[in-house]
Amino acid sequence: MADSGLLIVVSGPSGAGKGTICDALRKQFPNIHYSISMTTRKPRQGEVDGVNYYFASKDKFESLLEQDAFLEHAKVYDHYYGTPKDYVYRLLGEGKHVMLEIDIQGAMQVKEKYPQGVFIYIVPPSKEVLEKRLRGRHTDTDDVIAGRLAKARAELDWIAQYDYVIVNDDLDKAVHAAASILEAEQCRAARNTQCIANIKSMYQ
Ligand code: 5GP
Repeated sequence: MADSGLLIVVSGPSGAGKGTICDALRKQFPNIHYSISMTTRKPRQGEVDGVNYYFASKDKFESLLEQDAFLEHAKVYDHYYGTPKDYVYRLLGEGKHVMLEIDIQGAMQVKEKYPQGVFIYIVPPSKEVLEKRLRGRHTDTDDVIAGRLAKARAELDWIAQYDYVIVNDDLDKAVHAAASILEAEQCRAARNTQCIANIKSMYQ
């Protein structure tokens, strides 16, 4: 077993296919656990506290922030979102992989605190494809779509900060690439010092 689980951080613009790729990875790697974020926004219909998010008041969130309880946090659309630190570290210590699907601001904070994480950016193959996917959802107005495309453009400058970039022009290939990354990361010698020590001890 590796010394610790992998902290897998996945980012990319909405419409890139992150969610679908992450769900497929979870099926292939039963050891992957999603981290449940805390947020100050109200639950949407069907959302359950402790399943989709931990829903909290602004006061509670700010008090936890003061106690340094988050691995990363961000304010998105006037609401706080954060990744509870203790939960993530506990799972990693138990050898479980933890997957965070978070935006770039959050990912850069995680990189600062936990550089041995695996940072993956999912990008659509072109602006046209991204726009088509966003329009195909029929959930956003033209203004919202224009905003998402501008944000996607601005974020391109940050991709170099990630360890891996996956162009999602074919879902099966993208999932295969992501799974290969995780397989390789699990085999890194630096992540398997205990295993190496055990093997060495057999030769004594
Ligand atoms: P929603 O309110 O639609 O569930 O999420 C709004 C945005 O917040 C999404 O872009 C989502 O990725 C981001 N988000 C959700 N949880 C976290 C978190 O723990 N940290 C950060 N940085 N962003 C988050």
